[in-house]
Amino acid sequence: MGQIRALAVAGSGGYVKPVMSERARIFSGMQPTGGLHVGNYSGALKGWVNLLDQGTYEALFCVVDAHAVTIEYDVKQMPSRILETAIAYIAAGLDPERCTIFIQSDVPEHMELAWYLGSVTPMGDLGRMTQFKEKSEQHQQNVNAGIFTYPILMAADVLLYKATVVPVGDDQVQHLELAREICRKFNARYGAVFPEPKPLLSSTPRILGIDGKSKMSKSRGNAIELDDEPRVVEKKLKSAFTDPLKVRLGDPGRPEICNIFTMHTAFTAPPALAEIDATCRSGALGCGECKMRLRDAIVRELTPFRQKSAELRKDPRRVLNVLQDGAERAHGIARSTLREVHHAMGLTSRSLG
Ligand code: ADP
Repeated sequence: MGQIRALAVAGSGGYVKPVMSERARIFSGMQPTGGLHVGNYSGALKGWVNLLDQGTYEALFCVVDAHAVTIEYDVKQMPSRILETAIAYIAAGLDPERCTIFIQSDVPEHMELAWYLGSVTPMGDLGRMTQFKEKSEQHQQNVNAGIFTYPILMAADVLLYKATVVPVGDDQVQHLELAREICRKFNARYGAVFPEPKPLLSSTPRILGIDGKSKMSKSRGNAIELDDEPRVVEKKLKSAFTDPLKVRLGDPGRPEICNIFTMHTAFTAPPALAEIDATCRSGALGCGECKMRLRDAIVRELTPFRQKSAELRKDPRRVLNVLQDGAERAHGIARSTLREVHHAMGLTSRSLG
């Protein structure tokens, strides 16, 4: 923090002028899975909005579409998935006037840097990644090199902007540890080009799905989606898993192992949360009532989000302008980092002159 770094902004005639920013930089992103879910929201997006509102950081938020191609997908649907993710960012409160919102594939330097970083990344480290093991298990018919090298692209996403803080859910911490390792290896071999990034976790870094078995994820079909109507939220919560030892009203519960309570932590204000904790433990609060309080809290918080999303969907041009503007700004920073990287590695015609 306090370090002077180049912040590129769009200037006249499409040129990008570097100006100086004293704030440390944060970077984060989500895959364009279509609609986001409560896990994405409380594990990441809500925290991004809070960080932006604090004003401490210069912030870049990316729709990481290039990460999404490692799994087979319907090409026709991809543009609307990207647009929906950008809409969710803005509707949740990421103000494009105060941060940079852009699409990863609009800045091809992500892919170029990933290639260079790949040459300092040990294969063994990639093979140890939990997400690689899970994805190759889930998609046995398509275990491609992209699934394997995914964490290198993620390291490039962060290092390209010299971001020092990366707000993510806990499933991404292992990838971030590898990004730090890649950063150290690159700097040791080519000189100190990149600062080491650190993960920053929200207070609810891991939300389980309504099945209570694995993390909430769209692909596992266990998610409460941000766009779900209140009656759908209610239906999903009614079937959700709670403390198995709390069977009927009067049984004492254990909020620390209950995913419904974890979700309350993200959506319910502290005094009401303390009351839920105490009455669940005493047995006075039953799971049915607790779930309906959660439904109310989720609906209360997400109603403005759903309204804002609907407004933005009617005006996609506005979202497109945000993304094009964001790409231009991100591209300026990316080009300047790549120039440093080329110089450090002795590449391109510029090193000949
Ligand atoms: P998904 O995991 O659904 O494919 P991404 O990998 O694009 O989505 O994740 C986007 C962000 O949301 C990441 O920071 C990730 O850690 C966070 N996240 C995703 N699922 C959860 C969850 N169930 N609980 C908490 N955070 C989550």
